[in-house]
Amino acid sequence: MTVPTISLNDGTTIPQLGFGVFKVDPDATERIVSDALEVGYRHIDTAAIYGNEAGVGKAIAASGIPRDELYITTKLYNNDHGTQSAIDAMDLSLEKLDLDYVNLYLIHWPRADLDLYLDSWLTLEQLKADGKTRSIGVSNFHRAHLDRIIAASDTIPAVDQIELHPAFAQRELRQFGAEIGMQIEAWGPLGQGKYDLFGETAIAAAAAAHGVSPAQVAIRWHIQNGIIVFPKSNSRERVAQNFDVFGFELTTEQMASIDGLDRGQRVGANPDDVP
Ligand code: NAD
Repeated sequence: MTVPTISLNDGTTIPQLGFGVFKVDPDATERIVSDALEVGYRHIDTAAIYGNEAGVGKAIAASGIPRDELYITTKLYNNDHGTQSAIDAMDLSLEKLDLDYVNLYLIHWPRADLDLYLDSWLTLEQLKADGKTRSIGVSNFHRAHLDRIIAASDTIPAVDQIELHPAFAQRELRQFGAEIGMQIEAWGPLGQGKYDLFGETAIAAAAAAHGVSPAQVAIRWHIQNGIIVFPKSNSRERVAQNFDVFGFELTTEQMASIDGLDRGQRVGANPDDVP
């Protein structure tokens, strides 16, 4: 199964489908990520705050997969904003991952109250120049945060990783991303199981029509919208199922019907409220 790649604005490419490890227990991470790599995933999304970078690193080392076939993302956490602290945080993440570089380093949340995200962003530019990360981007950035770092730096973020699922479709940021050449990554693509996404008629009917699961339909909706997506599961069966989304295609009508589920419903925190 070949996962499509998406071109980023810095000349690199990213596998459109990956595996996310938020809330994957640190002790179970090596096994679960090993499962994902065996299934065929080559893109892993972790973060310093998930506490499981070391497990991701062990799975990578044990896999024997050449480094240049893997795409690894990690993130700078809220208490590490600033210049020297961001440099130190990146070094610590690389040490835990046991890697020389990551493919993508993100500012996890803007923490606008600290007023340090611009310093962090300028530091990420330097970390990229130093070869510690191939690409740099942000997460949970609103338009105003993006405008500020774009105006004050030489780099448009390669991605903004934001909460995005059918009931919270983020049309404005997707449109803005398309205008400036910034890709959108979805977190919580299955709504984190916090509302009955799978019971929505638009999802259930498409699943029945294609003989696939509602989760596969939801992931496919992201893929056909050009969004980068990395659903999480602890179960090997679901990890495999979520990867098996390239054998069917949602029709224009099915896509439109799922688009109709957008009702501005967040399941996670508003970035303005994250201290
Ligand atoms: P998700 O929407 O991927 O939902 C995960 C939950 O969906 C699982 O716990 C499981 O219960 C269920 N699930 C998964 N596959 C299923 C299947 N096939 N059938 C039925 N149920 C299934 O939520 P997420 O893990 O929060 O988001 C994905 C990834 O996004 C994370 O692992 C992480 O890498 C990233 N993330 C980033 C941020 C951020 O602030 N940048 C925040 C949250 C998550």
